[in-house]
This record gives sequence, C-alpha cells and structure tokens, in this order.
Amino acid sequence: MSQTRPNASTAPTANGRADDALDALIIGAGFSGLYQLYSLRDRLGLSVELLEAADGVGGTWYWNRYPGARCDSESHSYCYSFSEALHQEWTWSERYPEQPEILRYLNHVADRFDLKRNIRFGTRVVAARYDAADNRWHVTTERGEHLSARFLITAVGCLSSANVPDIPGRDDFAGKWYHTGTWPREGVDFSGKRVGLIGTGSTGIQAAPVIAETAAHLTVFQRTANYSIPARNAPLTPAFQDHVREHFAEIRALMHATANGHPFAVADRSALATEPAEREAIYEAAWQKGGLQFRATFRDLLVDKAANDTAADFIRRKIRAVVKDPVKAAILTDIDHPFAAKRPPIDSFYFETFNRDNVDLVDLRAAPIERITARGVRTREAEYPLDIIVFATGFDAMTGALLGIGLTGRDGVSLREHWSAGPRTYLGLQTDGFPNLFTITGPGSPSVLCNMPVPIEQHVDWITACIAQMRARGQSRIEPTAEAVAGWVEHVNAAANATLLPQVGHSWYLGANVPGKPRVFMPYAGGMAQYREICDDVAARGYAGFVLS
Ligand code: FAD
Ligand code: NAP
Repeated sequence: MSQTRPNASTAPTANGRADDALDALIIGAGFSGLYQLYSLRDRLGLSVELLEAADGVGGTWYWNRYPGARCDSESHSYCYSFSEALHQEWTWSERYPEQPEILRYLNHVADRFDLKRNIRFGTRVVAARYDAADNRWHVTTERGEHLSARFLITAVGCLSSANVPDIPGRDDFAGKWYHTGTWPREGVDFSGKRVGLIGTGSTGIQAAPVIAETAAHLTVFQRTANYSIPARNAPLTPAFQDHVREHFAEIRALMHATANGHPFAVADRSALATEPAEREAIYEAAWQKGGLQFRATFRDLLVDKAANDTAADFIRRKIRAVVKDPVKAAILTDIDHPFAAKRPPIDSFYFETFNRDNVDLVDLRAAPIERITARGVRTREAEYPLDIIVFATGFDAMTGALLGIGLTGRDGVSLREHWSAGPRTYLGLQTDGFPNLFTITGPGSPSVLCNMPVPIEQHVDWITACIAQMRARGQSRIEPTAEAVAGWVEHVNAAANATLLPQVGHSWYLGANVPGKPRVFMPYAGGMAQYREICDDVAARGYAGFVLS
C-alpha cells in the first residue's frame, strides 16, 4: 500500500520531469529525514519533498521488525527534544521500548507535524547528479521519476543497508532465510521449527532469547564472542514518567553536555586508580542497574587497555556464573577485543538462553561455515539441519546506503570513486566536489558512537541555520575546500587513535565486516559535546572551511 501524496507543485510533468519549484530534496524518512523536513518546510518556509524507499516512516524502526527488537538508549532519551510540546504529550511505556512502540512514536511525530503530505513513499532514489549549469541536484528514482532541487540532504541512515554474507550455497537452502534488517511485516512463525541464527552482535543478542521461546530448536552460530550487559528492562513507573516531563530541560542539557549524547555522564574516576574491592562494588552496582551506563563507570575504560581489562574480566566472570554448561561458557567468554571497543550490546536474558535444552551454540572460530546446503548450515566439522536461517549479520554501515544513492558530483565524479580509499568529509556534513549536498550522520560525524537523536538534531539544526543564512545573504552554493576535508579526516583519525576503538580489526566501525570495503575508522570519536562546539565555531567564523557563493 502506497501512502504517496505528491505535492502538486512538484509532481512530475507528463514527460516525466519535475518542475523546478523545489528548494530541497531529502532522502530517508527516519529520525533524521522527518526532522529535516519539518525544519526546512515549517521553520524556513522552503519547498521540500522527501523520498523514502519504504511504504511508511520510521527508517530503522520500519525495517527492523525482528523478534526482540528494541532500543538500548533509554526511551526518555531516544526521542526528539526539539519540541517540548511533543515531549510532554508522549509517554513511553518501558525503559527500552520494543520496535512497534518506537514506530508508533515516529508515526505520531509525522502526523502531528503533518509531514506525510510531503513524503513520497515507495520511492527509492537510484541516481543523483549535481549540474553546475543550473546549480541543482537532479534525482532519479527507481520508477524513473526525475526531480530537481537546489539542496540535496541525505538522511539514509548509518545502519540501513543490510549485509547478507555471500556464503556459498545460500540459494540452495530448501528452507526460508531472513535478514533481521529487512524483516517481513507479517512476522515469521518459528513454532515447531529448527532455527539457525548467524551473528552475535546487538541484533543477534536481542533476537536469540525470543526465538528460543517459540522455536523447536535454536542453533546460534557465533564467529566473535561478545560482551553484553543486562538491560534490566521494565515498565516505567508513573513517578519516573512525571519526572521526565517535569525535567525536560535538565535532561536535554545533560544529553547535550555528555560525550555520547546519553542522559548520564561518564564518572570522573579511573578504574586503575580505584581499589579493587571498591571497583568491584562499582561494577556490581552498574551490572544490577543494567544498560549502557555500565560503560560510564570509569573514565579510562576506552582509552587504557589495563583499565578496560578490569571491566572485561568482571563481565566474563558474570557470563561464567550464568551459563551452566562449561563448554558453552568457554565459547561465550573467549572474547578477543576490549569491552565497548565494538558497539556494546545490552540484553534481556541472552546468556541465560544457553541454559535452555533447545539451544545450541556453534563456535565458528573453531570450525568456520563452509557452505549452506539444501538442508542447513555446514561447518568444517558438521552439518546442522535447519528449517529457517536468520542472518543477524549487520549492515554495510555508514557508507552503504549513501553510496547506494548513486551520487555524482561537480566534475562528473561519482562519490564511489571519490571515496574509493574510504569516506572523506568535512564535519561529516559535506564532501568536496559535491556542492549543496548535506549528509546527516555521515562518516566523520559522532553518529553511531552516540545516542543518535542527539547528533541527528544537531546536524539538522546546523544545516537548517546554514541554509537560512545563505538565503539571507543571497548565496546559493556551498562546498567545503579539499584542505578542510583533509584536516577533518586527520582529526577524525587522531580522535579514534586516542581510544582503543580502532584496535579491533573486525569492527564495522572500520568497515571490516564487508569484504572489499576500505578499512577506515568512520565515526568521530572526539565526543558529541566537542563536535557541537567545533560546528558552532565553524558557523560563527562565517562557515570557515566552506566556500559560499
Ligand atoms: P534510518 O532510520 O536508517 O532511516 C533511513 C531511511 O532512508 C530508511 O527509511 C531507508 O529506507 C531510507 N533510504 C535509504 N536509502 C534510500 C534511497 N536510496 N532512496 C530512498 N530511501 C532510502 N541508535 C541509538 O542511538 N539508540 C538505539 O537504541 C538504537 N537502536 C537501534 C536498533 C537497531 C535494530 C538498529 C539497526 C539501529 C539502532 N540505532 C540506535 C541506530 C539507528 O539507526 C538510529 O538511532 C536512527 O534510527 C537512525 O535514523 P536515520 O533517520 O538517520 O536513519
Ligand atoms: P553487527 O554488530 O555487525 O554484528 C553482526 C554479527 O554477525 C557479528 O557477530 C558478526 O561476526 C556476524 N557475522 C557477520 N558476517 C558473518 C559471516 N559471514 N559468518 C558468520 N558470522 C557473521 O550487526 P548487528 O548486530 O545488526 O548490529 C549493528 C549495529 O546496529 C549495532 O552495533 C548497533 O549500533 C545497532 N543496533 C542497535 C540495537 C539497539 O540499540 N537496540 C540493536 C541492534 C542493532 P563478527 O563479529 O565476527 O564480524
């Protein structure tokens, strides 16, 4: 069902070409695109259209309908804060709500601000070309429509391009297979089925306990063992819901002040300088409280391997205490990287799931997958008969969806060619050679290292203010200099190298999960608060590093 309601002034004409009325085109109707549409249309009064491949709004929360899908930012922070009225009228039910509730929230936002009338659903962008002659972006959709606009804003998501590994024999499988990031709307019935789950990142760790409850049998295929902290999810009490409503401004100020946009600060104490007994008590309290705050117990966890080892050791002991089978416990605790140097999952009874009689664990480090057969998955040691395979194998993160747009810049150079050695941006917002193209949470933005609504709102506000100022000054073109891009790339690398994060060779932060992808550390690890200051300073200095005309 398509909910497309094209804006009459911008609908394609009979020859398939749109008129030139549009000021801006936005691609993607998740958290980013919805707020960008509202900001440009309702605050600046621009003529804007949003193109979205899906049949509805929501982005991540439209596509990721797998069992167990929920956020792991706390609900009162995993939402917009640009409108206090919106904040006051919405009530979250749980500490970490499930996907349907988050999708309802994003539909509520779209309806409340009457955004859907400017969104074309079921519309995938397959090419976008900048034309220097008219200083406009010309966009082509999968259906062959053409639209053009002065500004093109990509809000296509960092984690929206599903990565289905090209394992030999996949098409021979006689059962059904699914990727968690493109889950069928009607759901999947696991009852009586033998299910194989490949992948133990945040997604696999959320899905396994829920699949195990209904499937006849679940086999978890683990390549890299992972840390996970209990979420301790629970319904929110009326008292907490009132607190959130009453302290809107303070909570927002805290989220803006912290390095990762969460509503908690990293404790200003060193794990190594803390007495072992006291350190253990701090970890225990954080474990009992649950959630990503565990990462905030000490300031040196992400910069000092010895400090990190104290947290890693604590979590391994916890896993061993939960998992009764010593063989499974050994496989689950054989973790080869520092805690939180890959995106740390939080879970609801993940390790407990391995105590169930109907759950097996396969160590792919000991015996890698050789192929998928008609019957199931065959590793070097055995064949596992399956009815359903679930790929929880992640995403072509940060660049996959962007490169999927087919962008061609000023001199006929494609973004794919321009970024062949890895993505290069200025502030994560623009790249040289691609005038008037803005990316929300692009590579070089703090994005995925944060509670994402915070960087998303900051980017949108910055882009909106930039376009407003350009219009006020009669300017119509903005592009960063190659020097500014080179300087930012260097700064992004330096910020990453000051942490333990780039040391994990198999992390998607580096693009290492996608064969052939250049290995470049993509998000900005210098912290959201510092990033905001840098962006504000650039704007205050007349958009230093950009050429405006
Ligand atoms: P998305 O929500 O990814 O939306 C991008 C949209 O662009 C999609 O609808 C897509 O269809 C569309 N699109 C892409 N390419 C095209 C094209 N060529 N043409 C037309 N449309 C296109 N972050 C947190 O901070 N906290 C969390 O708890 C959290 N939980 C997550 C859970 C899961 C399962 C996943 C996968 C991610 C999670 N994230 C979380 C990250 C999450 O992606 C962001 O928080 C946020 O939802 C991103 O919003 P977005 O609008 O930038 O991108
Ligand atoms: P991921 O973190 O990239 O994990 C993918 C898993 O699949 C890894 O265990 C990986 O193993 C495995 N894998 C990939 N290819 C494989 C292959 N060919 N054979 C065997 N195993 C393979 O993906 P994700 O779990 O979907 O999470 C991605 C990101 O989305 C998260 O980091 C997070 O930012 C976001 N997310 C957030 C939430 C939340 O906040 N609630 C939930 C889900 C996802 P290796 O580690 O060995 O590569």
